[in-house]
Amino acid sequence: MVTVDILPDKYKEMTDDELRGIIESKKSEFGSRLCILGHYYQQDAIIDFADHQGDSFQLAKTGSEIDAEYIVFCGVHFMAESSVVLGKEGQRVFLPDMDAGCPLADFATIDQVKVAWNELNNLGLAGKFIPITYMNSSAAMKAFCGENGGTVCTSSSAARAFDWAFNQNKRIFFFPDENLGKNTALSHDVSSEDIVTWDPYKKHGGLDDVALEKARVIVWKGYCHVHTLFTVEHVEDVREEHQGCQVVVHPECTPEVVALADGNGSTAFLKNYVEDAKEGSTIIVGTEINMVARLAKQNLEKRILPLARSLCPNMFKISTADLAWTLDKLGEVNEVFVDPEIAKGARVALNRMLSI
Ligand code: SF4
Repeated sequence: MVTVDILPDKYKEMTDDELRGIIESKKSEFGSRLCILGHYYQQDAIIDFADHQGDSFQLAKTGSEIDAEYIVFCGVHFMAESSVVLGKEGQRVFLPDMDAGCPLADFATIDQVKVAWNELNNLGLAGKFIPITYMNSSAAMKAFCGENGGTVCTSSSAARAFDWAFNQNKRIFFFPDENLGKNTALSHDVSSEDIVTWDPYKKHGGLDDVALEKARVIVWKGYCHVHTLFTVEHVEDVREEHQGCQVVVHPECTPEVVALADGNGSTAFLKNYVEDAKEGSTIIVGTEINMVARLAKQNLEKRILPLARSLCPNMFKISTADLAWTLDKLGEVNEVFVDPEIAKGARVALNRMLSI
């Protein structure tokens, strides 16, 4: 159940200084009872107040370890849901703008996934597959994986999740990001002929029985519009314009873009890549623009440029007005809830992810 609260005009009319004043005073009033988590894709104005920043894997882990009574998650809805699922008894989680969702997560609904799983079952194949859902999915999808011997992964842990499944001699049904699924499978030496894409809007996923019998990895037809904006032409153009540059991208980019890059990995990987690079290097980064701009500011001795300007409008929805309001009315607005039965199954899958 989700309560939807609307930002009152009073906060919209405040100056930046007034909003920052509220946030600072509430942070000191609540002290260790409050923890603000900020995803790397958040605006600097929000990151300034984060007690912890990270990618979705780091924040899920941090959220499960802290004792704060109130967690204010500056990210998108599925992240806050995971924080509720992994939270301790009595902990409450808030999302400053309840409208901050993730179009990638919305590509796979639990009903569509259950239909697909039943079809595999009817072919006698479901037992041969392990369902793995990307963190960018609803709690119901995570619960489905928990209940069917599967797990969750983030872009940081996708390779480990694939190892874990293949070591059990299983095949993988991966959702909802086609590109992360394909890129991870290819990096595990699965040939492209053994990777098939399930389209939930086509009968039987658009696949015939032979293709399904043969597939080692089935990926769901879904994508992140922020990362599929990057094209092969972008990579070719920057290589021509910045001779000797290195190009690193997020694995939600298409396999064609990933194949041309010098490296690919999670936002944490991209951050480390930039920080570890030699002074004077030019690194072109293919991920969300707020993150790239911050990396550029923090690594002035290197030249850090975006592969193209690509902003996540949902991450961008969280403003200082939303944060000030949520803290000012802490406990009264923007709380995220997960149905206890769904939370139980999702917890199994998320804890499996953290232990793999
Ligand atoms: S960057 Fe892509 S995957 Fe991440 S929250 Fe935005 S739309 Fe979703």
